Amino acid sequence: MFAASFRLLFHAKAHVAMTTESTIIACACGAQYEREERTLPIKDIGLFECVDCGARLEIWSGRTVPMFKRVKADAAHKRSA
Ligand SMILES: [Zn+2]
Repeated sequence: MFAASFRLLFHAKAHVAMTTESTIIACACGAQYEREERTLPIKDIGLFECVDCGARLEIWSGRTVPMFKRVKADAAHKRSA
């Protein structure tokens, strides 16, 4: 049963991978981010640092840039955005 539902989930994810492919990035401090790549019409240079601990998770330069979205942790409510 578990294997079957996993395969279904994987299939659904692969289906949308044409436009957006999201992966989960986990920082050493335990924070998790959903990462998606976007292609911009112009070049962009930037970096992403962990909101919690400040660790540099990625640096990019080019038209394909990652977008990070914080994945809500169980009961972590440290910051009020
Ligand atoms: Zn961190």
